[in-house]
Amino acid sequence: MAMGNRFDFLFAGAGILGSSAACALSMELERRGEKASIGVLDLDLEGEHSSTLKNAGGVRATWRNRANIELCKYSIDFYETISEIIQFRELGYYWMHGSASWKEINENHPLYVEYGLPVELHAPGDVQRIIPLVSNTEDIDGLSISRKAGLIDHYSLREYYRGSAKARGVKFIGGCFVNGVDARDGKARAVTAYDFGGLGKGPGGFSDAAKEILTKGAPDGDLPMIEFECGTFINTAGAWAPAVAKLYGFQDDEIKPRRRQMVVMDAPDADLSAYGMVIDTSDVYFHQEGTGILAGYSNMDEPVGYNFDFSFGGMSEESQFVKYIWEPLYRRMNGFEKVRLVRGWAGIYAETPDRSGYLGKVPGYDNIYECAAHTGRGLMISYGAGVALADIILDGKPRSELKHAADLSRERKAGALYEGLHL
Ligand SMILES: Cc1cc2nc3c(=O)[nH]c(=O)nc-3n(C[C@H](O)[C@H](O)[C@H](O)COP(=O)(O)OP(=O)(O)OC[C@H]3O[C@@H](n4cnc5c(N)ncnc54)[C@H](O)[C@@H]3O)c2cc1C
Repeated sequence: MAMGNRFDFLFAGAGILGSSAACALSMELERRGEKASIGVLDLDLEGEHSSTLKNAGGVRATWRNRANIELCKYSIDFYETISEIIQFRELGYYWMHGSASWKEINENHPLYVEYGLPVELHAPGDVQRIIPLVSNTEDIDGLSISRKAGLIDHYSLREYYRGSAKARGVKFIGGCFVNGVDARDGKARAVTAYDFGGLGKGPGGFSDAAKEILTKGAPDGDLPMIEFECGTFINTAGAWAPAVAKLYGFQDDEIKPRRRQMVVMDAPDADLSAYGMVIDTSDVYFHQEGTGILAGYSNMDEPVGYNFDFSFGGMSEESQFVKYIWEPLYRRMNGFEKVRLVRGWAGIYAETPDRSGYLGKVPGYDNIYECAAHTGRGLMISYGAGVALADIILDGKPRSELKHAADLSRERKAGALYEGLHL
């Protein structure tokens, strides 16, 4: 086994949350005039199969719980300052609600007012005036428009965090699949990882190899290993966080990986460029993406597992694309008569029982922290989550603007943080 480096802070997982937290930690240490080494390990730094590169780019703060609202609002305030770099199109969230989600957003609305979030609630009779493409308002109980919301480019945001972290000396190390954590007496001391330095030279390249490992949880056969000593260990392995947790002896029965699928289609007669994200009562969410429309639908009966297979293909009547995406859009709006499925993909979504993520210190350990499984909001929450985690690591608690982020601790002192407006 090769003896590697020592890092004061070592992250497992360089997706949007690992990249953001490493960036925030390095900035906060710099601000305090403190020097520390920070490393971020990932199997695949490009992250082709990470949830970060599979998502819909949606950003909003309309949640039920203060923790999620504060983290998203703090993040959006920041995204507004770098909007050109991350292609933040603050064009709003237009949500056509059925009865349950209309009730939910009305109940949450006083909290949005308290936080200064501009969220408008409109009667069904206003829908066609606001979105003239809507041809049918059947089963719409109301329309909410969240103005402090819209779309960002996940790749640019991740690269922004990484660039800023690297400028402060953070090392991002690819080809490392963490497979052991030496944690005795509640303290992580060292981490071992398979070293995939040589991968990527085969016919399928790195992409296929990484997908296989992320599906099966381990490589086939023996590989060289590398060791890293660490002062503090941080689990930011996304939907793979439970497997990393197991390495330090923490049994995580809460985070479940589930497949989510998205498509890009040509719909030449539908121009949605004036809106950010649009959501139908059927829960199909969609937005303009260049000259096409990007759309997703979350099959709630999808079995748990690391499944990257795309099954929404085809234009036949039986196809899932037609059933779950095209038909609901065709019924709701003009402009979806002529449609061509261009491409699609499946990504892994990290679900939790209350649909809120975990952020904070791992119970039972002195120096192990986590930020993972923020379900459908890992991207939108990422700046605030990184800052809150850095505060918790350095000070034991988040700054006052993010004080409810402490509720996302694994122990959930505030009780379950169930989110109803979830896709
Ligand atoms: C279809 C879809 C649509 C979505 N839409 C939105 C949206 O509109 N808005 C939004 O905010 N969120 C959305 N999400 C959720 C969002 O994408 C995730 O919450 C977010 O990307 C999670 O980031 P992460 O850094 O925790 O995980 P990831 O991006 O998955 O990163 C985890 C990293 O850990 C690495 N890793 C895993 N195991 C190991 C190991 N043992 N050793 C080393 N590295 C390891 C992986 O290679 C990966 O790069 C969507 C998700 C999906 C699937």
